[in-house]
Amino acid sequence: MSERPKIAVSACLVGQKVRHNGDDAEFRVTSREWSNYLEIMPICPEVGIGLSVPRPKIRLVKTAGRLSLVNPDNGEELTNKMLEYAEIQSDLLSLAGISGFVFKKESASCGLDRVNVYDGNNPTPSQDGRGMFAMVFTSLNPHIPVIDEGRLSDPRQAEHFLARVHFFNEWRKSGENGWSASKIMRFHNENKLFLLSRAPPMKRLLGRLIATRFDEGAHPENVALEYITEAQKGLVTLPKDGRIAHTMERVFGKFSNQLSKAEKQEVVELIHGFRQGILPKSAPLIVLNEYLTRYNLDDKILNRFITSVPLEMS
Ligand code: SF4
Repeated sequence: MSERPKIAVSACLVGQKVRHNGDDAEFRVTSREWSNYLEIMPICPEVGIGLSVPRPKIRLVKTAGRLSLVNPDNGEELTNKMLEYAEIQSDLLSLAGISGFVFKKESASCGLDRVNVYDGNNPTPSQDGRGMFAMVFTSLNPHIPVIDEGRLSDPRQAEHFLARVHFFNEWRKSGENGWSASKIMRFHNENKLFLLSRAPPMKRLLGRLIATRFDEGAHPENVALEYITEAQKGLVTLPKDGRIAHTMERVFGKFSNQLSKAEKQEVVELIHGFRQGILPKSAPLIVLNEYLTRYNLDDKILNRFITSVPLEMS
């Protein structure tokens, strides 16, 4: 398996000129900034079903409660082609080992939410749809983190999405040779600080899920899938900085008695600065990481929290 987590990205976002108007919609975060740390797999569903570039702008249409994907210029129905393509690609991408998907916003194929849906002859669309490819992908893979590029403009959303991607990638690596009860419990234990910092109720809920499902005699592969699906649901909400700062203090408490007064003061001020929104998260994390190395605290639980996103990307 590649060292870098893989993510799928709508191809127009990485600069491919595949949009209906023959242009791209390059979003530098995905096309440049992340490419050193993630393996980017571009995919364009509309080109994938055989549409040309340029092409008419296709749309979602609801008729008598049924959703279709339609070429408004000639009324051509593209629904079945897209559904079939999306099912096959969703499985292939999952088998290829992707740990996340960044979708182009507002597209009738790729948009995750607020996509235009036209009802009958009403020229004014409702904006409550999901692109048809994205709809199939997310229903077949509810455990894989997804986001649209509109949200990635917010650095906090981008950072949290990356943390979810790396968490998922860790889960995938842990289960590479098959899951067992002990592997699931080890994974949960190693990620407990990570979960406490980003989705506090999930640590307890997931621990209960593991215990209940094994009591019921569930197969470890099923338990592992249920585990990551529930975890990703809990991780959808953006965590509060205060909660992350509190977890930093817990990590600091593991070795603070080995530091001088001035060193302690420095860490306390860095965490405080992050909590106040004055410093980036990476400022206290880099220093905490240095102390972990200096004091040989090679502890997977602490490391999973500190490097939940590579420090260069925090
Ligand atoms: S939004 Fe999706 S379907 Fe449209 S051009 Fe981009 S990748 Fe292709």
